[in-house]
Amino acid sequence: MPQSNQHFDCIVIGFGGMGSAAMRYAAMTGRSVLGIDQHGPAHTHGSSHGQTRVIRKSYFEHPDYVPLLVESYELWDELNRRHRTNLETKELLTQCGILQIGPPDGEVITGVLASAAAHDLKVERFTSAQISHRLPILKVPDDHEGVFEPDGGFLRVELCVAAYLKQAMVHGAELISNTTVTSVESGDEAELRVHTSDGEFTANQVIVTAGAWSRQLLPGLDLPLKVLAKQQHWYQIDRVDNKLVNEFPCVFFERDDSSSFYVTPELDTLGMKVCEHSGGDELSDLGRFSNELSETQKSRTDEFLGDCFHHTKSRLVHHSMCKYTMTPDSHFIIDRHPDIPQLVFAAGFSGHGFKFAPVIGKRLVGMLDAEEDSRFDFLKLDRLN
Ligand SMILES: Cc1cc2nc3c(=O)[nH]c(=O)nc-3n(C[C@H](O)[C@H](O)[C@H](O)COP(=O)(O)OP(=O)(O)OC[C@H]3O[C@@H](n4cnc5c(N)ncnc54)[C@H](O)[C@@H]3O)c2cc1C
Repeated sequence: MPQSNQHFDCIVIGFGGMGSAAMRYAAMTGRSVLGIDQHGPAHTHGSSHGQTRVIRKSYFEHPDYVPLLVESYELWDELNRRHRTNLETKELLTQCGILQIGPPDGEVITGVLASAAAHDLKVERFTSAQISHRLPILKVPDDHEGVFEPDGGFLRVELCVAAYLKQAMVHGAELISNTTVTSVESGDEAELRVHTSDGEFTANQVIVTAGAWSRQLLPGLDLPLKVLAKQQHWYQIDRVDNKLVNEFPCVFFERDDSSSFYVTPELDTLGMKVCEHSGGDELSDLGRFSNELSETQKSRTDEFLGDCFHHTKSRLVHHSMCKYTMTPDSHFIIDRHPDIPQLVFAAGFSGHGFKFAPVIGKRLVGMLDAEEDSRFDFLKLDRLN
């Protein structure tokens, strides 16, 4: 158990999706590593919970993410191999494919095709009629089209976080849960002082991966982040026969009004996960976050199911509230603190970051080692100034 005033080579603040991966890569370098989280491993108060996270390479958001995703897939695969040697039967990553649907001139279809063309990705285009033939449960407007990417799929989010923490500990990292970091300050020497609700620690280097709390933890940076409460829903949907359920890919659906929804296949008998990617309720006070059912968010998903699925009945069987930490342009922020060079941070994942956790965790450690990597330049903070 780490003792107050103990010194570490590296302290990672927040071990959700990004921090757990960063801890593993930091520990692999031989550094002594301490991870501190205000909650426990794989908890339900942040952004890394809710059974699944979609992963895809044909990235409509920006083609510059694609090289990062190609590496992320390799790193998830490597983690999965280690995870499954431990009598664990569930895969971290399931490549069931993803079908991205929308108006041909919408953000999704144009962006997916641009990324696929720029990076020579394997994708297949479908008309609305072809989609109806292959996935009869979907009701797709005649003028929409779909792009299927066989490499797409989903990650089991909590298992991924647990697997990274386990690998970090295999390499000697230590964890402290239920402890809040109140501030980080430069000490007299080159070391940094990390003040917590349960004492103080010192470190040569600090990684901040504090998700929705990043703005509070790094007040001097005035990070332009806005937190949204986003509800995840699981439905039992009648008229989905077993064959269809087993073969169902992930679906991302852009509608005519630019709203967007996603579906991941039924898993562990919980039902199909159906959520809105657009929308959400701004959380100006993080202390007011609650898992109470938002009827407004549910009704929007019900409406999507009614409009875009052929079914007789759907029943909500489970819901879970989660946080999107939005930047003004919905791109991530990965950078070094301008006044504290031994502190690096990653924040503002804007509801699409989890699939990148391995490559971001690895990059944060690379930054501590002063490694150059221009692939991440488009994610620097100064673009938002
Ligand atoms: C509903 C939903 C659906 C999503 N779907 C997808 C998807 O399909 N695909 C995808 O790639 N991404 C998706 N995302 C986004 C992705 O899940 C997030 O980008 C990612 O999980 C963010 O990880 P994080 O480590 O930044 O944050 P978190 O996992 O929230 O971790 C931050 C950690 O920091 C800790 N912390 C904060 N402040 C302190 C402090 N002061 N002291 C100690 N600990 C602290 C917190 O307790 C927390 O554990 C989704 C997000 C949500 C909410």
